[in-house]
Amino acid sequence: MKPLIIIDPGHGGKDPGGGSNEYWLEKDMALEISKYQYKRLSELGISVQLTRNNDMYLSSSKRSKIVRDSEAKYCISNHINAGGGQGAETIHSIHSDGKLATKILDKIRQTGQKTRRVFSKTLSHSPNLDYYFMHRETGNVETVIVEYGFADQKEDIDRILKHWKDYAEAVVKAICEYMGYSYENIHKMDEDRWKYAGVEYLHTKGILNDLEGWKEKINEPMPVWATTLLLKKIFEKLKEED
Ligand SMILES: [Zn+2]
Repeated sequence: MKPLIIIDPGHGGKDPGGGSNEYWLEKDMALEISKYQYKRLSELGISVQLTRNNDMYLSSSKRSKIVRDSEAKYCISNHINAGGGQGAETIHSIHSDGKLATKILDKIRQTGQKTRRVFSKTLSHSPNLDYYFMHRETGNVETVIVEYGFADQKEDIDRILKHWKDYAEAVVKAICEYMGYSYENIHKMDEDRWKYAGVEYLHTKGILNDLEGWKEKINEPMPVWATTLLLKKIFEKLKEED
C-alpha cells in the first residue's frame, strides 16, 4: 500500500551532514526526529514510510528514487542547518503553492522556536528547475525540507537539545491540520491517557459539560469554589438517581 507521507532523515552513513556539532551529528538528529514522527503519525492512523531507519548512506539518486517509488503524496525531509543564522525554516518546490511548508513553519514557531522564512529556490540558469534535488528529483511527491535550526548557533543548540521533540511534534500537528486528520484529542489521549479518564467519565455522566475545556486545564489546580460546585453537582446527581 502506498503511504500518504514519506519521511526522509537527511544524510546518513558516511555522510554526517553539515548541521552537526559537539552534541549531535546532523544525520543522527535527523533520524531521531524522523523516527519520532514516524511513530506519531502511525499512532494517528496516517500511513507513513521512512527513506532510512538506521545509519545508512543514501546517495541523492537512491534517496530520491525511494521517495518517487513510495508514491507517497508528501515527503518531509528533515535537516539541521549550519553556516550562520538562527531559527527554523522550510523549503518547498518552485512548483508547490508552499501552503504545507508555511503551515509547518507556523506550527514550529508556536512551540517557541525562532523562525526565518519559507522559501523555494531555482537552479541557477534554469528558472524551471528546483535547486534542491529533493524537490527536483522526487517526481510527483510534494517534498518539504524542514531545517529545525542551526547546529552552530548557541541558542539554537540549546533549544534543539531541549525541544527537538516539540519541533518534531509540531510537524505532525501541521500535517494533521493540513490533511484534515484529527490531531488534538488523539494526541492528548496518547500523551497521558490515564489523566483524562476522570473528566471523560464525568462528561459521559453529564456532570462536566465542557470536555475540551477541562482537558485543556488537566494539570491545573482547582479552586475551592469549583471543587465545591463539582461536589454539589455530583451530590445532586446521586440524589436524582436514588
Ligand atoms: Zn542537511
